[in-house]
This record gives sequence, C-alpha cells and structure tokens, in this order.
Amino acid sequence: MTKKKKDTALHVIDGIERPPSVNPSFGEKQTSKIHNLKNVDDFVREIQLGNRFALSKAITLVESAAPKHQEKAQAIIEKCLPYAGNSIRIGITGIPGVGKSTFIEMFGKHLTGQGKKVAVMAVDPSSTRSKGSILGDKTRMKQLSVDPDAFIRPSPSSGTLGGVARKTRESAILAEAAGFDVILIETVGVGQSETLVHSMVDFFLLLMLAGAGDELQGIKRGIMEMADAIIINKADGDNITKAKLAQREYQNALHLFPPSPSGWIPRVETCSSIQGKGMADIWKMIEDYRFETQKNGYFYSNRNQQNNLLMHQAILSELKTHFYHYQPVMDKLSQIEENLKASKISPYIAARQLMDLYFKAFGSEHHPAKSDKQ
Ligand code: GDP
Repeated sequence: MTKKKKDTALHVIDGIERPPSVNPSFGEKQTSKIHNLKNVDDFVREIQLGNRFALSKAITLVESAAPKHQEKAQAIIEKCLPYAGNSIRIGITGIPGVGKSTFIEMFGKHLTGQGKKVAVMAVDPSSTRSKGSILGDKTRMKQLSVDPDAFIRPSPSSGTLGGVARKTRESAILAEAAGFDVILIETVGVGQSETLVHSMVDFFLLLMLAGAGDELQGIKRGIMEMADAIIINKADGDNITKAKLAQREYQNALHLFPPSPSGWIPRVETCSSIQGKGMADIWKMIEDYRFETQKNGYFYSNRNQQNNLLMHQAILSELKTHFYHYQPVMDKLSQIEENLKASKISPYIAARQLMDLYFKAFGSEHHPAKSDKQ
C-alpha cells in the first residue's frame, strides 16, 4: 500500500497510479448478466432496485442522439418520475483550480460516511466542443469513484450547452429513482452554465479562494447573487487568516444584495477540502436550508417554477430545431444570409421572410403577424 504524503516527513514523489486490485466494475458486470435490460419496464424495475449498471445504461440512452434511444429514454424517465424527487440537488461552481473536484470528493465521502447515497453529475460547457469532459471526472475523484454509495457521471457532450444541461437534469431524475439522495451537479463558474445548473438545483454553492480578487476569479456579480452559500476553499496553512478575512468581506458584500425569495440569507463558510475540514458544517448548513425552505414552502414552489421553466425551454428548443430543419427554410437560409451581408435587407425583414416560409406550412391563419392584427 502506498503511504499518504501527509503521514511521512519524507518527500514522496507520486508514482504511476496502479489500477485497483479488484475491478471496481466487477459487481456491475455481474448484475448486467443477471438482469436482461430489454424493455423499458426492465430498466425501470432495475433502476428502482438501485442497479447501477441499469442506471448507467439508461443514462447512456438519455445521452444518445439516436431517435430510438431517445424514445426509450423518455419512456424510462416518465416511469421513473414518481420515484424521483426525494433528494437534495446541490449545484457546485467555481473557477478551474478552486478545488471543485477535491471538495466534491471530500464532501461526498463525508456524506456516504453518514449513510447517504451520492450521485455526482456535471454540466461542462467545454464538453460540447471537445467531446470529452473535465468535470464530474472519476479520475479526479479517486476515493469517491470506488465508493459503493457514490455514482459519478461526467458531463454529457452534445451540440449545445442547453442540450448538455437537459441531459444532466434527466440523468439526475434517474439517479433519484435509483435511491441517490444527494445529487451534486458540478459546473465551472465562468459563463452561462451556472445559470443552467442554478435552474435545476435546490441549493447553489459557489467555491472561491481568499485574496484572489473577484476579477481574477472571473466571478460575475450575477453568479454571486445566485449563490445560497459562498465557500472559501483552501482555508489551511498560511491561508487560514486570509480565508477568515475573505469570509467577513463576502458576508458584508452579500448583505448588499436584494433578499432572496427563499427567505434564506446566504452564508459564507470556509473549508479545507484537501484536509476534509469544514464538511460537516457545510452539510449542516444545507440541512438548515432544506428545513427552512420546506417549512416556508419555497423548496417546493422553486422546484415547480424550475419545472415550468424547463418545459418552456424544451418547447423553444424543439420549435427552433423544427424551424431550422424545415426544408424550405434550409433551402432559402443561405441566400437570405447573403442578402443580409450585402445590406440588401434588414435583420428583421430577413427573419420575417424566413418565418413567412415556415408559417406557410400551417396555413396563413396561424401566422402570428396575422393574429396580431385581430
Ligand atoms: P478544480 O479545477 O476546481 O476541480 O480544482 P481541483 O480540485 O482539481 O484542485 C486544484 C488544486 O488545488 C489541486 O492541486 C488541489 O490539490 C488543490 N486544492 C484543492 N483543495 C484544496 C485545499 O483545500 N487546500 C489546498 N491547500 N489545496 C487544495
């Protein structure tokens, strides 16, 4: 067994990581042989029994672009929905290097140590370009990835960030139906992805560093406003005093933000993920939040509102896909773009010409411009 660095005064250089002596997927492979996952009901039954192999397979269907996989995935999700929802969903964001994976590893271990089942998912904006994901990555969470009570799934890759977010949201439903009672959804604090993650979680955690300056951390005011808690990570060694100072500063800054409809006053905590310090307090805070917001009803109204928003987003996204895949629009698009480039038409007239083509398919009585005049 390799000795941990902190247990020795000697400087130990990390060697090549050896594979575990027992294949961590051994149990999963066994289950796959026992249970034949042929139809939707097989999936639903096995997911409900907590069969991780079935869960993984179902998520693969969710992530697939093939229409027949999508159809099956949607049927599984629909049947799993009555068994979902009994979890707390926690969003975790922060710039690369702030310590997200270290935090999730230690926080996740703390929770599984308390008998919880923890699923880790991710919305990684870069996965839409690179096809691979840097978030929710098992190799970054070595201890948690072999924990039988944890399930880690990297970010799906898809054409759009909205598509990635949707798949993660659907995968979370399946994980809940499989009995995971804490869902951690990781994303990076640099852009639009946290707005998407915020709209699918109950509690939103922003990880920050002391003394790095908001500018340097690329954290926009809007992201701070979304946070239910700011966690100053790396509060260890020489950094402890700075972290405590930052804690006070952020707490003061948060007071200036408008009150949240949840009635919850965002808190600022410090932790050392690498030493596993502060995890119990952070979990206690999230439990407090759940207790308070379930009592005042916000917990449920927020979930309803999120579902409503997701429905409208799904409608818009399907309409958009339908529009751009409609043959007459596809035929005409490049020509209209050329006219636009040559300043022959305005963007609004260009849009109107394409929309006219589209609405023709439904007959002129469905044209929104016509119904406006009524
Ligand atoms: P991520 O990119 O946000 O996922 O960050 P990582 O978890 O990969 O951490 C980035 C670096 O910070 C790694 O070298 C970690 O070992 C280190 N790190 C993470 N958490 C802590 C902490 O609490 N204290 C200290 N001193 N270092 C940490």
